[in-house]
Amino acid sequence: MSKIFDIAIVGGGVNGCGIARDAAGRGLSVFLCEQQDLAGATSSASTKLIHGGLRYLEYYEFRLVREALIEREVLLGMAPHIAWPLRFVLPHHKGLRPAWLIRLGLFLYDHLGGRKILPGTRTLDLRRDAAGAPLAGDFMKAFEYSDCWVEDSRLVVLNAMDAAVRGTEIRTRTRCTGARRIDGVWEVTVEDADGSRETVRAKALVNAAGPWVSRFLTEGVGQNAAARIRMVKGSHIVVPRLFDHDKAYIFQNSDGRIVFAIPYERDFTLIGTTDQDFKDDPAHVAISEEETRYLCDAVSGYLKQQVTPDMVVWTYAGVRPLYDDGASKAQAATRDYVLKLDAPEGAAPLLNIFGGKITTYRKLAESALALLKPHLPGMGKPWTEGATLPGGDFPVLGFADQVAALRAAHPYLAEAHARRLVRAYGTRAVELLEGVTDTAGLGQYFGADLYEREVAYLMDREWAVSAADVLWRRSKLGLRLTKEQAEALDGWMRNRPS
Ligand SMILES: Cc1cc2nc3c(=O)[nH]c(=O)nc-3n(C[C@H](O)[C@H](O)[C@H](O)COP(=O)(O)OP(=O)(O)OC[C@H]3O[C@@H](n4cnc5c(N)ncnc54)[C@H](O)[C@@H]3O)c2cc1C
Repeated sequence: MSKIFDIAIVGGGVNGCGIARDAAGRGLSVFLCEQQDLAGATSSASTKLIHGGLRYLEYYEFRLVREALIEREVLLGMAPHIAWPLRFVLPHHKGLRPAWLIRLGLFLYDHLGGRKILPGTRTLDLRRDAAGAPLAGDFMKAFEYSDCWVEDSRLVVLNAMDAAVRGTEIRTRTRCTGARRIDGVWEVTVEDADGSRETVRAKALVNAAGPWVSRFLTEGVGQNAAARIRMVKGSHIVVPRLFDHDKAYIFQNSDGRIVFAIPYERDFTLIGTTDQDFKDDPAHVAISEEETRYLCDAVSGYLKQQVTPDMVVWTYAGVRPLYDDGASKAQAATRDYVLKLDAPEGAAPLLNIFGGKITTYRKLAESALALLKPHLPGMGKPWTEGATLPGGDFPVLGFADQVAALRAAHPYLAEAHARRLVRAYGTRAVELLEGVTDTAGLGQYFGADLYEREVAYLMDREWAVSAADVLWRRSKLGLRLTKEQAEALDGWMRNRPS
């Protein structure tokens, strides 16, 4: 054991990777371990919205909503390939929230923070607007407002890549089995997939284990967690495309909740989510039949086309690691983050991360480092606002130009293929395709528009190890490959020809 890192981070979700990137950019030496794949847990199971959270206004979460609203355009600027503006249509339902309340909420939403690019709210006449066409006849009026979309798992990987470029040591498939304070530093034991153990030393420890945050504290650190998380499960279903326009719907449900129906991966619609208290092992979270029915019923109440469980092509579920604020209903538990620093006099600090949103991960990282600063006084200033993520160095509204440029340089790429590559890799698509002059140059074909060249890039540059890493987290090509194709890809990756 030689080197002493400034910070060791447990957890490679959006919060762990966001803190790693920020810390590394401030000149700190960082070690991060993730027991599974990057974004293997909650950070690939979100609704993928960068949003202020309109419904949080009902719970008076003004701090969170304002911070999140401002972050929308910050994140758009940092990663215009994986994040883009999205308009939301909220049909007015006579039996539910009154129009004046929605108007008030949207007024606040438009004015609370930081809106420069995103257009404001407008009212739609659903009898005339294209957004009215898929809706059942009794909806006449709707409100349309702005939020943004983000490819959640790619956001995590891009943060990890940038952290690594800045010197962070990232270990995936590596579990932290325990950590102890010894001689003023943390000794952190990690175990990789082969069972090999190693101990690393760090001046500070960050527990960003998401749904496992309390468990790591009790089992890994040997402390009784003073603060607890409330694990709230949320599930999504994916069905063939339900409407032709590019806006998303936000439907109010009679139980007071809302459900989104969002254009997804060109040919599909994503429907979610649910809120259910969850007590089991987060590693085994899955949608229930009851949730599938709930989501189908929620959207069927609004659409001409009925959505039924047999239409579902894919589902995913995740556990929100919320801070337990004692709220009675799962949907009411705070979505804000809470950072708890444990730093007894003279002892190495431990920072536990509770809650948070994908949307606010960058601000969470800044807050985390502000708390650690007295213990790591050499760290630099905040720097991530305005600093693009890998591949994101092009104008926010310049996506089409990037696609055109890529196709001009690589005319053998079909339009949809080029679009997908620019969405995933932004300006890095050029590097991925370097030296390729025709389809044959892309190497072995695995299905949909996936070729060896891209898989090799993902393995060499983005820590992909298995087919699931490629098909469900680095991309969503799992929706398009057959089971046999996915198995063949997995076999190829495990025995990759040198
Ligand atoms: C259904 C649902 C919808 C959501 N929708 C949105 C949304 O639209 N917009 C938004 O902004 N937010 C949304 N969120 C919230 C957001 O997804 C989470 O707040 C965020 O992903 C939490 O990130 P995290 O890094 O804290 O946790 P995670 O992503 O769970 O990361 C923690 C990581 O720690 C690892 N780990 C745990 N223990 C160990 C150990 N001992 N050793 C090594 N690694 C370990 C885990 O494997 C895991 O990968 C949603 C969440 C859910 C569940």
